[in-house]
Amino acid sequence: MTKKKFAWGFDVRELDATIRPQDDFYRYVNAQWMRANPIPPAESRWGSFVILRYETDKQLKCIMDELLRMKRVVQGSPEQLIRDLYRSGMDMERRNKLGIQPIAAWRNKIAGAHTKQQLLDVIAELHVLGIGVLWGAGIDQDAKNSERYALHFGQDGLGMPEREYYLKNDAESLRVRRAYLKHVERLYRLMGEGPSSAKVLTQKLLAIETALANASMKKEDRRDPDKTYHKMTHAQLAKTAPGIDWHRYLRLTQTPDVPYVIVLQPDFFKAVSRLLDTVSLADWRTYLEWHLVNDFSSALSAPFVREAFSFYGTALSGTKRMKPLWRCILGSVNGSLGEPLGQIYVQKHFSPAAKKRMQILVADLFTAYEARLKSLTWMTPATKKKALMKLHSLTRKIGYPDKWKKYTGLVLSPTDYAGNLIRSSLFEHKRQMKKLRGPIDRSEWFMYPQTVNAYFAPNLNDIVFPAAILQPPFFGLDADDSVNYGAIGAVIGHEITHGFDDEGSKFDAKGNLKSWWTQEDRKRFEAKAKKVEKQFDRYTVADGLKVNGKLTLGENIADLGGLSIAYDAYQLSLARTGRKDIDELTPEQRFFIAFAIFERENARPEFEKMQVLTDPHSPGKFRINGPTSNFDEFYKAFGVKKGDKMFRPAPDREMVW
Ligand SMILES: [Zn+2]
Repeated sequence: MTKKKFAWGFDVRELDATIRPQDDFYRYVNAQWMRANPIPPAESRWGSFVILRYETDKQLKCIMDELLRMKRVVQGSPEQLIRDLYRSGMDMERRNKLGIQPIAAWRNKIAGAHTKQQLLDVIAELHVLGIGVLWGAGIDQDAKNSERYALHFGQDGLGMPEREYYLKNDAESLRVRRAYLKHVERLYRLMGEGPSSAKVLTQKLLAIETALANASMKKEDRRDPDKTYHKMTHAQLAKTAPGIDWHRYLRLTQTPDVPYVIVLQPDFFKAVSRLLDTVSLADWRTYLEWHLVNDFSSALSAPFVREAFSFYGTALSGTKRMKPLWRCILGSVNGSLGEPLGQIYVQKHFSPAAKKRMQILVADLFTAYEARLKSLTWMTPATKKKALMKLHSLTRKIGYPDKWKKYTGLVLSPTDYAGNLIRSSLFEHKRQMKKLRGPIDRSEWFMYPQTVNAYFAPNLNDIVFPAAILQPPFFGLDADDSVNYGAIGAVIGHEITHGFDDEGSKFDAKGNLKSWWTQEDRKRFEAKAKKVEKQFDRYTVADGLKVNGKLTLGENIADLGGLSIAYDAYQLSLARTGRKDIDELTPEQRFFIAFAIFERENARPEFEKMQVLTDPHSPGKFRINGPTSNFDEFYKAFGVKKGDKMFRPAPDREMVW
């Protein structure tokens, strides 16, 4: 009898008969698919997530095409804003004619800064525009008083993605740095500098950024909320960074009166304050101008677009070819008008039935988590009680927001792409600043419905699943339960567990950064986390580069929790529906196969290397083989024994939660 393709949401002919699941589970499920699906030239990775993003982009393009065909749209309506932003970006002819002209006024502002105060004023204006020169500013909940918003100041100002690229001299850092310097120089040439002056300016820019990198906090430490919380009055801020007139800065950035600010990295601001006096005004101007142009490159003419791609696309992530223009512009429509576009998207592509099925799944996950928490042997009853309280107050957002963001007053034109992006940024800045005056908006989303992803927000204490991730291969209305629990179930479990990972566990049920653990429990938790850190420290990618166990700890703990909770939730569902084998696979085997598909992907070596240096997520294969090789139920399902490559001695198998 021939097997029906996708009989339960997966085609078993994809399993690789030459690889034993007990030796390399990830490849057993994915190797055949990986061989048959090479990475397209315009991508740096290709797999479950990226393909679903690509499919979603195609759906969004249909929406765009319909909007373009509409005869009449009301000026200022979401349809007009989306259509004209898209249209202005697609008009390459006009963009090419304008060249760098659309940001000329901003370049002039920078060129006119001849005193230190004028320079600081321009920096403030660039921050309003969303360009993070020297440092960055943003509105977020106060981590220790989650009932109010606070203005946060954090390190920023680098053109490469991490400080290590400036400071380390290993082969990969040198390769990326060399490519970056070429990019900096070529961009100066495009800005009109001659060959020798472009070389000199490049070295000056590198000197400034290296000084900023030296003063920057390491990414591992940035994940620790205890290290990045420094509440300061105006007087304290002035004492930390005396070289900056903060009252004037706050006024220019349209900040309402605030009693205090939160500084993420005080040492960085001390250094910036000193640098402002030691680096010449001329060097600062060239640094600001370069960053302005670099940030706007993809909104200017073709030579600027290509130049940005050569570094950020090719050198950093190995991508061979640019994405088609429509996908690039769609990206910026998502960035500037994500919710209005999402509102149209969910009307067409998200059904109430999907939401209902998801609610059942999520409820099973919570039941499973609660049972697991209650049965933990390493946690004292006092802490356990508080952990349960935190679990119970975790809110769930599924599909799309109940309340949509408004864009009344935003003016966008069909012929002025860069200008549209500037006006959108200024509009968004006003919205952010307004938050400082009001209560916390608990309904706010930090992703769009059309985003293929999910998140946990520690201060709101909520988990969020946008409509676009609720699709195959993660979730299907007609798929077998094993697939839905193994894939989207593990994603949900992952997000719940973020509330209890090395970072999230520092926030209490109200979303406040506050210790709620007994010391004894915290110690035991940290010992368990350390084991996970060591396990992942051993994994390597291209050129022998190592996964950073500390940087990826939170995500790895979330993956472990996601797997075990989804497994338990699936058992709850099996108890209701009954068990049956399909394609000679037990329910548990099918569950683990679905779990392995969730991270199925091919990635370019450049991308993998950047990923282990910058991304808190481990590469896909370790996100599958790491957790499964720790999970006793996986050993049972596939009969893993000593001598098999997936085998880890029982005392080393750590699931944490
Ligand atoms: Zn995560």
